[in-house]
Amino acid sequence: MLTKTHLFENRGPDERPRIVIIGAGFAGVAAARALRKCDAEVLLIDRRNHHIFQPLLYQVATAVLAPSEIAAPIRQVEAKQANLNVALGEVVGVDLNRRTVEVVSPGIGVREVRFDFLVVATGMRPSYFGHDEFAAYAPGLKNLADAETIRTKILSAFEMAEATDDENERARYMNFVLVGAGPTGVELAASLADMVRVTLRRNFRQIDPAMSTITLLEGGDRVLPSFAPSLSERAARHLARIGVTVMTGVKVENVDAHGVIAGGKRIESATVLWTAGVAASPIIKLLDVKTDRAGRALVEPFLNLHGWPYVFVTGDTASIQQDGRPVPGVAQAAIQQGRYVGRLIADQIRGREPKRPFRYRDKGNMAVVGRNYAILEAGHLRMSGFLTWLVWVFIHLMALPQMQNRWRVQSQWLWSYLTGQRSSRLISEAPQSPNVAVTAKQTIAP
Ligand SMILES: Cc1cc2nc3c(=O)[nH]c(=O)nc-3n(C[C@H](O)[C@H](O)[C@H](O)COP(=O)(O)OP(=O)(O)OC[C@H]3O[C@@H](n4cnc5c(N)ncnc54)[C@H](O)[C@@H]3O)c2cc1C
Repeated sequence: MLTKTHLFENRGPDERPRIVIIGAGFAGVAAARALRKCDAEVLLIDRRNHHIFQPLLYQVATAVLAPSEIAAPIRQVEAKQANLNVALGEVVGVDLNRRTVEVVSPGIGVREVRFDFLVVATGMRPSYFGHDEFAAYAPGLKNLADAETIRTKILSAFEMAEATDDENERARYMNFVLVGAGPTGVELAASLADMVRVTLRRNFRQIDPAMSTITLLEGGDRVLPSFAPSLSERAARHLARIGVTVMTGVKVENVDAHGVIAGGKRIESATVLWTAGVAASPIIKLLDVKTDRAGRALVEPFLNLHGWPYVFVTGDTASIQQDGRPVPGVAQAAIQQGRYVGRLIADQIRGREPKRPFRYRDKGNMAVVGRNYAILEAGHLRMSGFLTWLVWVFIHLMALPQMQNRWRVQSQWLWSYLTGQRSSRLISEAPQSPNVAVTAKQTIAP
């Protein structure tokens, strides 16, 4: 049914201003919420129908949680906001002069949407540093599909190790390599280490999963480089304790179906995971603005684009310096930027001048290193260990998008903590092995 305020209808001159927000991640949702009392029409467009709580993606990839436990339908999250419309579609074009965006909607094709204010909050994607061919062998972790791909890869590797008679192949299946020791690489490696030692114990007959090798490769000189060196050291020591081999100062030169070449050395592995670089979403290129090395849009102090006072870029895709350092690409920064831009637009619509430029308030930085261990840095405070892990658990539970998510994650965590089991050990597709050919001679027993 077409109503007067139908999303894609051309508007008349006396209608309310239209604010288009591209991306319903942390920044986009925060911007939309900050506009809830604004006398305007807000249109939130995302190519997915759900908002993802990315900090827990690694738990989906390692079978602790199911995808639906860390995601929520955007429509449901924002159901109470009367001035908000949600559209499922991918933005493929932006014309700043004509104030339009082009949206490809499933089953409909390309349509044009007019805007008075535009907020771009499209996040980042994995970067293979100019080697996109690595992606076929080393999946990155950015969305639920990636997490399921990684989960399938990990669980399939153990099935194939159990099935094969070839010792070398078995070793290759039980060798896991992660490229990049930032928070995602560390969290993923540590969770995998817990899984092989605890969850999979006594589940196999031919192999002992605890004999797996987990290698975390880092090009820099320490793990978790965004933390203070003392915390990096503590995290590295804990990783070693739980069985993760950390190799720093090594550059990955090649990734193929058999493993990686790093620092001139070949590591045979059936499971290589990419947790290294990120690059800005391609939509930034459409804006024809100056960018930093990662492709993020350089924004003005009010988070608008230079020369475009009604076009804003927020969250991971925005590049802005504060006190001589870049504002980090973390959830807190994205939320604060989204909220700031939403309020600023609401003020402009009410005819008020913008008050002060955006300022990021760093509330601290955390990373979890497996069961019972996390690190925290907030100002001069540095903490690590079990108590920090409890703080991490509490903060992450509270930050989940809906009560339903909190409830389900809390029960899964409790169950997993008490029993060591993980409830999402599903292989979505049948494992593929080049060594196994299904022939017509195989029969199914009656
Ligand atoms: C695995 C992982 C773990 C992380 N762990 C932490 C952590 O522990 N703590 C922390 O603070 N931060 C963490 N981060 C970083 C944090 O998640 C990001 O900083 C945050 O998500 C950025 O928010 P955003 O809104 O800018 O982008 P996103 O949350 O990435 O949202 C972007 C949205 O835009 C949509 N989109 C993109 N392109 C288009 C298009 N063309 N058309 C329509 N829609 C589009 C996407 O579908 C997505 O919904 C982690 C990130 C990852 C990937």
